[in-house]
Amino acid sequence: MSDGLKILLAAPRGFCAGVDRAIEIVERALEVFEPPIYVRHEIVHNRHVVQRLREQGVVFVDEVSEIPDGAVAIFSAHGVSKRVRAEAAGRPLRVIDATCPLVTKVHLEVHRLEREGYEILLIGHAHHIEVEGTMGQLPPGRIRLVQSPAEAETIEVRNPGRVAYVTQTTLSLDETEQVVSVLRRRFPSLRHPAKDDICYATQNRQNTVKALVGKIDLLLVIGSKNSSNSNRLVEVARQHGVAAHLFDEPEEMQDAWFEGVRTVGLTAGASAPEDLVQATVKHLLDRFGGTVEPFVHTSESITFSLPRDLAAAEPG
Ligand code: SF4
Repeated sequence: MSDGLKILLAAPRGFCAGVDRAIEIVERALEVFEPPIYVRHEIVHNRHVVQRLREQGVVFVDEVSEIPDGAVAIFSAHGVSKRVRAEAAGRPLRVIDATCPLVTKVHLEVHRLEREGYEILLIGHAHHIEVEGTMGQLPPGRIRLVQSPAEAETIEVRNPGRVAYVTQTTLSLDETEQVVSVLRRRFPSLRHPAKDDICYATQNRQNTVKALVGKIDLLLVIGSKNSSNSNRLVEVARQHGVAAHLFDEPEEMQDAWFEGVRTVGLTAGASAPEDLVQATVKHLLDRFGGTVEPFVHTSESITFSLPRDLAAAEPG
């Protein structure tokens, strides 16, 4: 590698509008209210973001029951079930909802489909917090989870003429299409979401990697192990025959990854901060030398506003 590495820096990458908004909500709450502030679940799936907020007085909990009376309670960007919302509403808590508006859109869709008498299938991954929140919009058993084309082949429905699907927002576009095509074959009048449930940020980051894979020997993805959209970026590269690795910190990169590699693509999942991208670039240049070039596939301009009462609140 005498000339060093060529680093192609993917754009768009990193923070999406929903993550930006969720972090801003917590930061604003820290300004307005006395810490500690309680957040149910990691506000976004990124170890650095969570650690930084923890140091500023945020306490992350798994359940509302762990939050003391009178405290500020924030729901994470992934959304919550009706049960969690009702439990919080029944307690003396100041609740702030940081659910991404694009997750809320899926929740509203579920309620509309239920009113219209559809049997609802959710394409997604079991145990993901967003899936728990979406499934929990309706009583148990009313939304059925489909995780793979194989499950789509075997799932039984009451009325094949009245089936609809929604999806988790951070899935692989290609795998979801495979599941949908099985469902469509089995249930020809299958109702699809009016607008894609897989969010713009997930789509843009995956499509950027698809455009990048023909130009690189290795894809580096900055993101945490529990970040769904980050894992999908690694999978997209590997499905196209390109080695790919997911890591939280530049120090986790291993020399063996770079054997025979001349061109590296660098991207970040929707919950990974830009300072980690820049630290990774510096780390690579210090270690291998070389050049950095932007690889711009799409531009993004979506932003979401803060909840009105929080935006207007004065520090107490
Ligand atoms: S990845 Fe998509 S759905 Fe999730 S927070 Fe970001 S914009 Fe919202």
